Amino acid sequence: MIYGEKNIDKPIRWAMVGGGRGSQIGYIHRSAALRDYNFELVAGAFDINPERGRDFGANLHVDLERCYPDYKTMFAEEAKREDGIQAVSIATPNGTHYEICKAALQAGLHVVCEKPLCFTTEEAKELEALAKKMNRVVGITYGYSGHQAIEQARQMIANGDLGEIRIVNMQFAHGFHSGAVEENNASTKWRVDPKMAGPSYVLGDLGTHPLYLSEVMLPEMKIKKLLCTRQSFVKSRAPLEDNAYTIMEYDNGAVGTVWSCCVNAGSMHGQKIRVIGSKASIEWWDEQPNQLRYEVQGKPVQILERGMDYLYPEALADDRIGGGHPEGLFEAWSNLYTRFAKAMHAADHGQTLEGVWYPGIEAGVEGVRWVENCVRSADSGAVWVEYQ
Ligand code: NAD
Repeated sequence: MIYGEKNIDKPIRWAMVGGGRGSQIGYIHRSAALRDYNFELVAGAFDINPERGRDFGANLHVDLERCYPDYKTMFAEEAKREDGIQAVSIATPNGTHYEICKAALQAGLHVVCEKPLCFTTEEAKELEALAKKMNRVVGITYGYSGHQAIEQARQMIANGDLGEIRIVNMQFAHGFHSGAVEENNASTKWRVDPKMAGPSYVLGDLGTHPLYLSEVMLPEMKIKKLLCTRQSFVKSRAPLEDNAYTIMEYDNGAVGTVWSCCVNAGSMHGQKIRVIGSKASIEWWDEQPNQLRYEVQGKPVQILERGMDYLYPEALADDRIGGGHPEGLFEAWSNLYTRFAKAMHAADHGQTLEGVWYPGIEAGVEGVRWVENCVRSADSGAVWVEYQ
């Protein structure tokens, strides 16, 4: 159970790049980081427009002298202060992540970076090596992975409740971009521009989320080969896709699929994962995150509710309010930010982090790698490719 008591000696002095007024994801970063007193927002380069960023920072109670016009100035100026920032979150469009993350690590900062970490596996591995060299933490915000229901699923699979794992079906398929909304929406416009979005749209933006959930639940299973097909139903989005199917074969003989889609008309979010074993299956859907379906062959369906005593203790450890009340995306993100803080604190004090997992730089590398393999398969005519 989480009561909001301190996890680390002192809140980490923290800044943001991006996540300004009007952004989609900035607010949840701040709510998650600030909720459990692990971080203190002391600086920021919140916006591509310096004036707007400054005004926004002031409204967040950040000292005006620490509302910077850009990240380079912020890293340079903060390095001169005794009370300078120790960590930074990067919540800017994809095309900027690599350079900002690299600069932050070189400045000796811990990083929380939005996905995708960058555009190529080569760049991702370079960042991974740099983080290791600098002994800095890089957390990646696969937000729902911090939800109790995901931990419960992880424990059930580890304890053999499902038997031998055979099939993993995943999807993140919403309908919000069924039409060319990018014509009037800045947040969507860059997502369909390869210069800012990278080599894919929905594979990277959506598919990597349930893929990471599968990595959390099934840490031993490794992809051996995959086949991907991708389409642009809104033609102006080509060469980037607004729909994609990926079929995967794992090294243990299991198979999996990921449906990544933003043109699933009528669907609100549609992020689901179903893990099928030889004895039973589990299914989780982000629109009803407090319920985990547990289906044992030959028995009635069970709905496992968040916060109940029958869950595994590892899942209940992240409980904030008990069963019955909803916990959702904000709580899941807060759980992740708490783990990021613990990891940063451990790195700063030369301690080994025991019993805490979080989406770190290896999750960032894997997401980029998966997208790269999917694009290689799709653009070669939807053929099977060995996973590289
Ligand atoms: P957005 O376009 O809505 O907002 C981007 C923000 O960054 C704006 O405030 C903009 O002014 C600012 N910005 C842009 N370039 C900047 C720069 N160089 N320096 C400082 N600020 C800059 O984008 P968004 O939808 O919030 O997405 C941001 C990132 O978050 C993307 O990488 C996206 O993939 C990711 N994202 C992740 C999730 C998740 O669930 N983890 C959800 C949505 C978005």
